[in-house]
Amino acid sequence: MSPKHIPMRTCVACRQSRPKRELVRIVRTLDGQVMADPTGKRAGRGAYLCWDRKCWESALKKKTLEFALQTHIGRDDQAKLEEFGQSVPVSGSGTDIGLWRQQALKTIAGREKE
Ligand SMILES: [Zn+2]
Repeated sequence: MSPKHIPMRTCVACRQSRPKRELVRIVRTLDGQVMADPTGKRAGRGAYLCWDRKCWESALKKKTLEFALQTHIGRDDQAKLEEFGQSVPVSGSGTDIGLWRQQALKTIAGREKE
């Protein structure tokens, strides 16, 4: 095995360490908004969650994200994050998460081009 360096990040909900690209970044932007940043390109403080609805629900319910990002999440941002979380598959439900993630990223990249 080659010791190739893979950047790892920890999911703030389940505390599992995974390769960065297998997690969704959530960013607190410079103007204080909190949003999902699946392409990982926005400037600001970031936290990571698995592509797993369970982690999203737990992080939003327990204010784990607020703690990780050291901010208060406004109602609108919270609603958008919940909506995003609802679109994420539950792990172990038979969905191929890797494949699903690729499609989701394609959709998001297309939307951001418009
Ligand atoms: Zn997780």
